[in-house]
Amino acid sequence: MNTSTNAFEMAQQQFDHVADQLNLDPQVREYLRWPLREFSFRIPVRMDNGDIHIFNGFRVQHNDAIGPCKGGIRFHPSETIDTVRALATWMTWKCAVANIPLGGGKGGVIVDPATLTNSEKERLCRGYIKQIWREIGPRRDVPAPDVGTTPQMMGWMMDEYATLTGEYTPGVITGKPVGGGGSLGRTEATGFGVIFNIREAMKKLKVDSSKTSAAIQGFGNVAQYAAIGFTEMLKGKVIAVSYWDRNDRVSYTVSREKGIDARFLQSITDQYGAIDKEKAKAAGYEIEDGTSWIAKDVDVLIPAAIEGQINAETVEMISDQVRIIAEGANGPTTLEADQELIKRGVFMVPDFLCNAGGVTVSYFESVQNDMNYYWSKDEVLTRLDEKMTNAFASVYEMYEKENISMRDAAYMVAINRVIKAMQLRGWI
Ligand code: NAD
Repeated sequence: MNTSTNAFEMAQQQFDHVADQLNLDPQVREYLRWPLREFSFRIPVRMDNGDIHIFNGFRVQHNDAIGPCKGGIRFHPSETIDTVRALATWMTWKCAVANIPLGGGKGGVIVDPATLTNSEKERLCRGYIKQIWREIGPRRDVPAPDVGTTPQMMGWMMDEYATLTGEYTPGVITGKPVGGGGSLGRTEATGFGVIFNIREAMKKLKVDSSKTSAAIQGFGNVAQYAAIGFTEMLKGKVIAVSYWDRNDRVSYTVSREKGIDARFLQSITDQYGAIDKEKAKAAGYEIEDGTSWIAKDVDVLIPAAIEGQINAETVEMISDQVRIIAEGANGPTTLEADQELIKRGVFMVPDFLCNAGGVTVSYFESVQNDMNYYWSKDEVLTRLDEKMTNAFASVYEMYEKENISMRDAAYMVAINRVIKAMQLRGWI
């Protein structure tokens, strides 16, 4: 999240924009503009040197009309209550558009996890749960990993919850390691979800996917499985991916005109999504400037790295050949660029529809935890496909019916579902 803009104001503006179009009752609007509950707390942690350090933690529950709140916990030095509020609000819309029976929540701690040792991290995770355990649970609010947190940390948090409640309750948290209550298919979920959305978009646009090409920004979790899915499921060609090089402190585009071998590139990529460019070069790939992915003559662009990458400046570099932009990342397109792309007639699959595969499989994880019965990877991915296909179909129907952008259509579908649940429960 770009911390120079207030993320929560942005989330409220996006909501207001659609609320205007829906002519929402002012009271309902006020209900949804703000989170229902916010917890702000201090977490004392004994550091390895014996000192006590106090960290600031948050958990925000935006709306739970449709079901228990759901959303990650971020460990980030520039975390604020407003970033957490914004992310919790977006989770409400993401769960609603994916049509999973969950609401929106998010958590955070102001910390740079890279400055902590493993045992300090464990004590911080356990300390976080000690402060919030009464307010979370499989029927209340289910956290998950996010920026700066890992499956191992979810394992510690789940264990602390079990210790405090005296009950093994794996469904209190998702994104746990497989074998420790996690679900198969979670690793592929977001990237494959992007691909199911692209496949559906291509059907509507009557495009033969096997004749298409794509360029991707990023080569982390989402981008890798989007690249694998694009080549293996859609039989298309990915000609470029990009990544941030920590050593050189610049980004690079790794390309090959005849199409990349996504699994080979994955094999020479580290856990942070950085490709070994010397090995790539030796295998015949071109190493280009970090922005060149966006200027490729391709049919599909998949921004799957960070926010704000398609902006007033870079939008001019996009080739006229591009027909679809599938937002794997959260918030990759700025408002100005979005307007320009609408003018150009580019078909946009908006972020909270496009990347909802992750939260959908997180939901499947808690369902499996509740049953204490685990599905095969195929079963998970088949169910994911069904959910994504249906989510795309509802948004597309709204887009055609209301003659609005796909982003506004996704908001409308989500907001309508939340409002309906609130009405059915007698809240409004
Ligand atoms: P990740 O950390 O695994 O990978 C990020 C990738 O982006 C890395 O390859 C990194 O090198 C690259 N990158 C960073 N800055 C870059 C730059 N300036 N130019 C080019 N590449 C750059 O992260 P991820 O889990 O793949 O998430 C990517 C995006 O998708 C984020 O916006 C995230 O919020 C969103 N998202 C992820 C999930 C999920 O399940 N992982 C779910 C929903 C949304």
